[in-house]
Amino acid sequence: MGQNANVSAAKTISQRLQHLDLEQRLALIGQTGRNVVFTSSLGIEDQVLTAVIAGSALPIRIVTLQTGRLFDETLALIDRTEARFGFAIEQFHPGADAVADYVKSHGRDGFYDSVAARHACCAIRKLEPLARALEGADIWITGLRRGQSGNRSEVPFAAWDDARGLIKANPLADWSDEQVRSYVKDHDVPVNPLHARGYPSIGCAPCTRAIRPGEPERAGRWWWEQDERRECGLHLKSPGEAAHG
Ligand code: SF4
Repeated sequence: MGQNANVSAAKTISQRLQHLDLEQRLALIGQTGRNVVFTSSLGIEDQVLTAVIAGSALPIRIVTLQTGRLFDETLALIDRTEARFGFAIEQFHPGADAVADYVKSHGRDGFYDSVAARHACCAIRKLEPLARALEGADIWITGLRRGQSGNRSEVPFAAWDDARGLIKANPLADWSDEQVRSYVKDHDVPVNPLHARGYPSIGCAPCTRAIRPGEPERAGRWWWEQDERRECGLHLKSPGEAAHG
């Protein structure tokens, strides 16, 4: 398929997803792709998606990027989730040599020193493992919501990701924070205890802090950087944009 055809196919899926409930959305995505991958950060939105995918045994792989710098609470949640739903989350780790080179050049926590050093760490611990996780995938599912940040306010239900050559689907795009919280409560879905301690968005431990009342949901991520658009590069339009975020 040419690029225009891919873009148009993604738009058609996006329009169809709009009118479905979450279970129907994920079932449609699972039926549409040959190799559908859901990348979970174990955040509360992703736990909703895991509950639906695992609960209905949909043909969707559930993977996570085990950066090596996650909170202990997040690691424990991997175990609790696997026990609750009876399956194993595929874990993708960074390359040992790349991590060793980074530590040698920048220090283990060199990401505090500059935006470039931070992006270099995210590239090694997140972007490269993500590329491996998505190898051969034709649809990538994420838990992005429009309400998470101004940066994400126009997240579509599905769009063609030209850089990665797949359709990126965001079945929770129009969900509110309240809907997410109600779902995990009503369905007894395990969640990270850090959410209750002021962490709405949870990434690597040294790069995430609790937010203060009134702050945006993602204000605790890379809090020492000034750029309001800061992201790790996983969800930018092309991987190259990470260098400017
Ligand atoms: S979030 Fe922090 S520790 Fe995690 S990969 Fe990015 S810079 Fe490294």
